Amino acid sequence: MKPYFIKTFGCQMNEHDSEVVAGMLESLGFIPTDRVADAGIIILNTCCIRGTAENKVFSFLGRLRKQKKANPDLIIGVCGCMTQQDHMAARLHHLFPYVDLIFGTHNLHRLPELIKRVEVERVNVQEVLPALPKELVEGLPVKRKGKIRAWLNIMYGCDNFCTYCIVPYVRGRERSRRPEDIIEEAAKIGREGYKEITLLGQNVNSYGKDLDGILDFAGLLQMLENVGGIDRIRYMTSHPRDFTDKLIEVISQSGKVCEHFHLPVQAGSNRVLGNMKRGYTREEYLKLIEKIVSSIPRATITTDIMVGFPGEEEVDFEETLELVRQVRFDSSYTFVYNARSGTPAAAMPGQIPEPVKKERIQALIRLQNQISLEKNVEEAGQIYEVLVEGESNSRSGLLLGRNRGNKIVTFEGSKNLITKNILVTITEGHLAHLSGIINNNKR
Ligand code: SF4
Repeated sequence: MKPYFIKTFGCQMNEHDSEVVAGMLESLGFIPTDRVADAGIIILNTCCIRGTAENKVFSFLGRLRKQKKANPDLIIGVCGCMTQQDHMAARLHHLFPYVDLIFGTHNLHRLPELIKRVEVERVNVQEVLPALPKELVEGLPVKRKGKIRAWLNIMYGCDNFCTYCIVPYVRGRERSRRPEDIIEEAAKIGREGYKEITLLGQNVNSYGKDLDGILDFAGLLQMLENVGGIDRIRYMTSHPRDFTDKLIEVISQSGKVCEHFHLPVQAGSNRVLGNMKRGYTREEYLKLIEKIVSSIPRATITTDIMVGFPGEEEVDFEETLELVRQVRFDSSYTFVYNARSGTPAAAMPGQIPEPVKKERIQALIRLQNQISLEKNVEEAGQIYEVLVEGESNSRSGLLLGRNRGNKIVTFEGSKNLITKNILVTITEGHLAHLSGIINNNKR
């Protein structure tokens, strides 16, 4: 029984893929270890969304050189988005010839056979497929992290081709899972005791477009409402362009779908949005937010914002700041544009110098922090349903959970509340969390 160690880079899709990799390894008899030095098999699940993520993979692989030399039986595997890039498998093999196994995002299910080949034939194995198989492979074993919140893939790939994004090239075109397979997995998650599921996809609200109209994302949420055991349903990531009125209505009427809307805006200038090929204007985005807030006043609104896209002028950036002031996002993932080779934006004129990007991101973070703090301070006195996730690291006796808006809430309480849904009255708001006291009057 060899110990296995998985290092995951990147987003929740990758985190979940690693849970599937772990499930397959355990079904082969491998056991988990937290120590890379003890591992008999090491899998790196990679990300290529930014250059920094790739550099981290290269340096991790470099550090494994000595370990492999000392233990030739060690199996080193690399999978994930990075391996799907053109010529990357050959480049990885050239730079790190001691890597035994390279496979892609479209053939995770083949891992057991690929490992067998490495073990029996003692050769380097590379298998990267250009697309998912015609029939999606279902029923793979999953070793989920945690006991309360579970991820559930509802679709793969993306058809949007935003000009800065490499995802459609490495994750392929949109493919929706069949509703019955999703429901079956959700029911299993519920039976296993998880209280919350997060539906995953690059663009979840375009779910079903490839299913001949049998179901859309709103319909899928309605079906999931009836799954036993699950108290909360979240989803990520949704695209503002595909956020329909029907979807807002379904969410507003649901008892389980959380009132958290993560809607990546990316920029506040129509010129930049057009160059990004985002498929909506600033005005359309603001209208969508207005619709959401008017039908769900308690909604938490969060976003992704990029600064320094090619050609972004000061006036465009000012429009982004203005949009942030107007919407008053509860929080934002802010990041600096980073050219990815092979994407149209990488070849666009007007690449922004790094010092300018740095100045803009700092201004944006300052503004967002100020708004996040103000909004959290305004929460004092609110009563929220909180799903208790565990103990806070900051102080003993302090518990931590999330409200339906996905805000972290801390409060004093006994450990036997973990996994329970309780009511908490917010007493104070901070930059990144709320604190409160258990509300015993209700529930
Ligand atoms: S919607 Fe745009 S940013 Fe998101 S994964 Fe697809 S191409 Fe990338």
